[in-house]
Amino acid sequence: MSDKQFAAGDHIDAKCTKCKDTTNHTIVALVDEKVARVECNTCGGIHNYRPATVKKTPAKSRAAATKAAKINKIEAEWEGHLDNADPATATTYSMKMAAKPGILIQHPTFGLGRIISTTKPNKMDVFFRDGVKILRCTVS
Ligand SMILES: [Zn+2]
Repeated sequence: MSDKQFAAGDHIDAKCTKCKDTTNHTIVALVDEKVARVECNTCGGIHNYRPATVKKTPAKSRAAATKAAKINKIEAEWEGHLDNADPATATTYSMKMAAKPGILIQHPTFGLGRIISTTKPNKMDVFFRDGVKILRCTVS
């Protein structure tokens, strides 16, 4: 909560039942240094102070949820690509490795991944836990 000290005559956002909205109000009376009565600057109604509703940000949380769902989807897809492969059979990534789609590789940064496609002469798309990365390699 804010430590701001209010005084009569100050402006404050409050809920107005007449306007059915959060509007700017002028403080009319305080009790124990707390805002008690306010006058709505929109409709002029004087009523008990009701704190302004903190507007939720559903858009943001929805974006976060979408992002989380996307990560889960990528992880699920990654697990599908790995298909319970034994990490011990993975080839350690190097730029000189001979890449072929389907090969399981172990990358020092991205971890375990499956080569999904290769592009001559030296690129491959690898599906890692956090999505597809394009890596250098040797395509024969
Ligand atoms: Zn009002």
